[in-house]
Amino acid sequence: MGQQLVETIQAHLPVSAAEARARAINLLQDTGISAPEQRIDHYPHQFSGGMRQRVVIALALAAEPKLIVADEPTTALDVSVQAQIISLLKNVCAQHGAAVMLITHDMGVIAETCDRVAVMYAGRIAEIGPVHEVINMPAHPYTAGLMAAIPDMTQDRERLNQIDGAMPRLNAIPQGCAYNPRCPQVFERCGHERPDLLLAGATRAACWLHAKDQQGVTA
Ligand code: SF4
Repeated sequence: MGQQLVETIQAHLPVSAAEARARAINLLQDTGISAPEQRIDHYPHQFSGGMRQRVVIALALAAEPKLIVADEPTTALDVSVQAQIISLLKNVCAQHGAAVMLITHDMGVIAETCDRVAVMYAGRIAEIGPVHEVINMPAHPYTAGLMAAIPDMTQDRERLNQIDGAMPRLNAIPQGCAYNPRCPQVFERCGHERPDLLLAGATRAACWLHAKDQQGVTA
C-alpha cells in the first residue's frame, strides 16, 4: 500500500519520500484505517474489500484534487459496507475541499449523497438538476421510467415496473430523440429532431414536451 501511495504523492507533489510517507499515513488515518503507521506496509490482500476502498479514497486524495470522479465506488462491496464508504467519501472529500462526481446506477445512493444529478441516456444527458427535484418531479420520460422502476415497499404487486425495449447500441442511436422508440409520450417531432436541454421547472430536460416558448440551454 505504502509504495503506491508514496509514488503517487511524489508524482504530483514536490516532496521527499519521507514527507510523502508521512502524508500517506495522515491520509490513511483520515479515511479510517486504524494503526496506519503499521498498515501502510501491508499488502492489499491483507485488507478487506471495504478497507481497500478506503485506501483507494486516500490514493485519490493524495494529490489534493479539486474533483474526484468515482465510478461505481461501491459496486463490489457488501451492502452493509456500501453506506460507510459513501459516507466516508462524502465527508473526507468535504474536509479536503474536493468535489465528487459519482457515477452510479444506484438511485438510493444518489438520493442520499448528491446535490445535483445528471441522468444519462445513450451517451447524452437526458435530464439535469437538483437531486430532490429530479427524483420527485422527473421532467424527462426516461427519468420518470427509472423512478417508477424502483420497487415500492408499500405496494403489493406481482410484477415490477420496467421500461419496455432496450438501450440502443451507441453505433445505432435512433434518429431524433434517442429515447423515442421506448417513450410512452412520443409524438411526431420526436422521430426526426433531437432535443437539446430545455428548461423544465427546476430541472433541464432534453425532451420536446418542454419546448413551449423556450430556448435550448446547455448543461
Ligand atoms: S422528446 Fe419525445 S420521445 Fe423524447 S423523451 Fe420527450 S416525448 Fe419522449
